[in-house]
Amino acid sequence: MIREIVLYGDPVLRTKGKQIEKIDDEIRALAADMLETMYEANGVGLAAQQIGQTLQLTVIDVSDAETHPSQMWLAGEEVDPKEHMPLILINPEVQIEEDQEIGTEGCLSFPEITAEISRSAKVRVTAKDLQGNPVEFEAAGLLGRAVQHETDHLNGILFIDRMSSATKAALAGKLKRLAAEAKK
Ligand SMILES: [Zn+2]
Repeated sequence: MIREIVLYGDPVLRTKGKQIEKIDDEIRALAADMLETMYEANGVGLAAQQIGQTLQLTVIDVSDAETHPSQMWLAGEEVDPKEHMPLILINPEVQIEEDQEIGTEGCLSFPEITAEISRSAKVRVTAKDLQGNPVEFEAAGLLGRAVQHETDHLNGILFIDRMSSATKAALAGKLKRLAAEAKK
């Protein structure tokens, strides 16, 4: 079922997600809805907060982003990210590396806004999948960026918090209008 995507200004986006203790039918149904909602909106990632759920759950699929390559490693071996999509990450934890790189980001909760954001160039991710099995991988490129963007959401952090003050100032008018829309 396609869910409504929560827009900037809704306090749920600022709420840290709760750890998921039990992966039951409700969680599986929620993950399926999140995938459907993300694909319908042409997004590469969606966090539970974006459909109004404060849980540590996010879905990611970078398969169709041909112009923004991704890299992925499993147990140190480079793999084709497409063969591992979509990712459904439960209670994910991300270790970032020092090297930063700047890239363009958008967010389904901020329609029509994109900005240059500095992120760690490579990350190591640990999480659980829908079967409760441990998931561990490293990611770079778009996938690395998506993982950082989505796990930020799970902690109530938004990409505007990662923008330079100059970028944020340039977008101030648009952000104000979005927040005002959300309050209606
Ligand atoms: Zn987002």
